[in-house]
Amino acid sequence: MRCPVCAHLTSRVVDSRPAPEGQEIRRRRACEACQHRFTTYERLEGVAPMVVKRDGRREAFDREKVRRALRTACRKRAISADRIEEIGDLVTMTLENRGSREVPSSDIGDQLLKELARVDEVAYARFASVYKRFDSIADFRSLLWEEGGGADNDKPDGPPPSEEQS
Ligand SMILES: [Zn+2]
Repeated sequence: MRCPVCAHLTSRVVDSRPAPEGQEIRRRRACEACQHRFTTYERLEGVAPMVVKRDGRREAFDREKVRRALRTACRKRAISADRIEEIGDLVTMTLENRGSREVPSSDIGDQLLKELARVDEVAYARFASVYKRFDSIADFRSLLWEEGGGADNDKPDGPPPSEEQS
């Protein structure tokens, strides 16, 4: 973000909060050269932090992965697609608002659990049970950042696969 006064390219974030519309983050910044303070509005996607996996590798934060994990947890529950989107956005924003450029993958799982606990007990329990399968919360990356979908706790709905008729 270029300083509007001296055009210096680096600034520090002083304050960060979602804009009323929810699609943007409003940031107060201070220019590192002249200390001039200015406000920027940044789209959520543009400012998403890097996810730090337990092995130390970094990967771009991907909201779609959060949505997928949520959809899996909320499958067949009375939770609308809009609500799932909202939770995903909220979690994204919460992470964003810390203003840090990197976020441990475990924090994302913690946030999701917290939000699910407010919404639906079953979805929460499902998510928590997937969580527990891993050695530690940090291994949650397996759900969110490597498989991207989460464990399938439901029995398949369809009829059992039938042999081909001969
Ligand atoms: Zn400046």
